[in-house]
Amino acid sequence: MSQKILILGVNGFIGSALTEAIVNKTDWEVYGMDMANDKIESNLSHPRVNFVEGDITINKEWIEYHVKKCDVVLPLVAIATPALYVQDPLRVFELDFEANLEIVRQCVRYNKRVIFPSTSEVYGMCEDEAFNEETSNLVLGPIEKQRWIYSCSKQLLDRVIYAYGIHNNLNYTLFRPFNWLGPKLDNINSTKEGSSRVVTQFIADVLHKGEIKLVDGGNRRRSFTDIDDGISALLKIIENKDGCATRRIFNIGNPFNDVSIKELAELILDQIKTYPAYKEIAEKTTIINVGSEDYYGSHYQDIARRVPSIENSKKFLGWEPKVSLKDSLKKTLDYHLERRTSELD
Ligand code: UDP
Repeated sequence: MSQKILILGVNGFIGSALTEAIVNKTDWEVYGMDMANDKIESNLSHPRVNFVEGDITINKEWIEYHVKKCDVVLPLVAIATPALYVQDPLRVFELDFEANLEIVRQCVRYNKRVIFPSTSEVYGMCEDEAFNEETSNLVLGPIEKQRWIYSCSKQLLDRVIYAYGIHNNLNYTLFRPFNWLGPKLDNINSTKEGSSRVVTQFIADVLHKGEIKLVDGGNRRRSFTDIDDGISALLKIIENKDGCATRRIFNIGNPFNDVSIKELAELILDQIKTYPAYKEIAEKTTIINVGSEDYYGSHYQDIARRVPSIENSKKFLGWEPKVSLKDSLKKTLDYHLERRTSELD
């Protein structure tokens, strides 16, 4: 029988890509809520996609009804942009923790599977070579460093979900994305500093400002993961063959794409130079250094490096990432630059 999948935040970066994959590769039905529908526009009229415009903090009856009706719940609504952790920490707590806790509790009440987005941020400033889901310490800074409210909110929900698994038999899977990137991540037209994750921010900086800012010299490292690799892991988790994902935590990241932010900036610039319409803009773009306090304010603190162990994902899901950072950036740039070029024509 076809599974019914409830996706809250269905128009987000992950929700929209997951919906596309479900439509193309499975016979599952999607029930989705979001405040907007621009990213899932092409699938809105699909017979297996049922979309409703709404806000998870307001449309609670619709959600409760659909938690009861569906087989699997993915609560993907969250603020996940570092600048906002320091600008609006209470909104992060209210949405990422409080609003999602209500949904997790409904999954417990109605005995439904929940697949919850934890985050690579939960590891914080852990110094392990590769972060392990079961053994790594989760290391956060002092309270005045408000950046950690996101990590801490997600960590507490991880712990609550884990405890519901033990005490109430909740069937859950936690997945931890490591800097996923792809076409629909953030808004390329938003020029506000810090309004996007780093890849989109840098592309927007080249197009709109001709200047890329490296925070604290850009020597922090991240393991960038292509959205299609992320989605293929999520499909395996939803499928849950022989219960392989039940009550487990999975890092979904690409340890082979571990680069410094400076290297990332250079890669993006080099690739933009290969698009004739943008060659000149990229050649004129300068890379400058800024202090993190000037860029994010004093409540920010950063993570030096963040490499996932993917042993669990390999062993239990039979998953490993395939897309190189170069290919992933190319896909992302094709999406943005080719669209813009045709708009300019
Ligand atoms: N960063 C940067 N310049 C920018 C935006 C971000 O150097 O214009 C850095 C940021 O300080 C961090 C890294 O890029 O070290 C990744 O930032 P992102 O916002 O993508 O999220 P994070 O990986 O920290 O969750």
